Amino acid sequence: MLKGIIAPDGKELDWNSYLSIDENWAYPKAIRCALFESLNRQRTRWISVTTLLYCLRKAKLEFERDYYLKQEDAYYFMRGNLLHGILASVAGKDALVEFELSYKFPGTDIVLGGQLDLWENGILDDYKTMADTGIHILKREGIKEEYRWQTNIYKYLLKKIKNLDTKEVRIIFLMMSKCIVSGRNFRIFNQKKQIDDIFTMEKCPMYSDDKIESFLVPKIKLLDAGHNPPANPQAWLCKSCYFKNECKEMIGKGSAEVKTIDREKTSGGELF
Ligand code: SF4
Repeated sequence: MLKGIIAPDGKELDWNSYLSIDENWAYPKAIRCALFESLNRQRTRWISVTTLLYCLRKAKLEFERDYYLKQEDAYYFMRGNLLHGILASVAGKDALVEFELSYKFPGTDIVLGGQLDLWENGILDDYKTMADTGIHILKREGIKEEYRWQTNIYKYLLKKIKNLDTKEVRIIFLMMSKCIVSGRNFRIFNQKKQIDDIFTMEKCPMYSDDKIESFLVPKIKLLDAGHNPPANPQAWLCKSCYFKNECKEMIGKGSAEVKTIDREKTSGGELF
């Protein structure tokens, strides 16, 4: 579980120490409090849906061990949560905003969890913040496999926990100056302010419960069985992973075989 922040000298500070320090490397108090609020909100210890999709080994280590984040990495996680206040201010009274989804899989000790951005009138919205240059990636590659699974697993968990049906899943890509919604047209203007291109961002598919369960259950069973879960090394993921040392220790000790995700579009990378 996340316990606090790593100072530039490598010292691990618990949340109380981080909130009370007065050193010039630290963010202003208001930002530190916001970091604490958004990252320490999780009430139940769970396996995070997003981590499970990227690397099962990291998911297990994150679940079992205490860890600390660098301030800048914590800020990155918090950035998406800045939307909370905006969504809460406009959502209807029956809407769920930043709702904690945590579900214990029957017959196992595994609790799977995540934070739902918004569910209202049967529409589940997941916000992704990205740089403006992300538009080219969206055009070229569409919705990432991990995003499709993440939102569909949220839909599944919501049904299990609150018995709520979802009729549409949307992914909303919020850029610095643009906003692209899955299933809608988006116009790209050139420098003369003329329409250069129009493309339709594909809809987020809706997966059946059976499909979601056949994806999730082998992973949940594997985690529950206590084996070393397989690593899913990718350069960008491992670079900022706070379990590199533990992961290295597991190499050579053998790990069970299960794919984290069937990656058709993205190739793997170097471990470290
Ligand atoms: S270093 Fe990479 S492969 Fe190892 S646990 Fe972290 S993310 Fe997974």
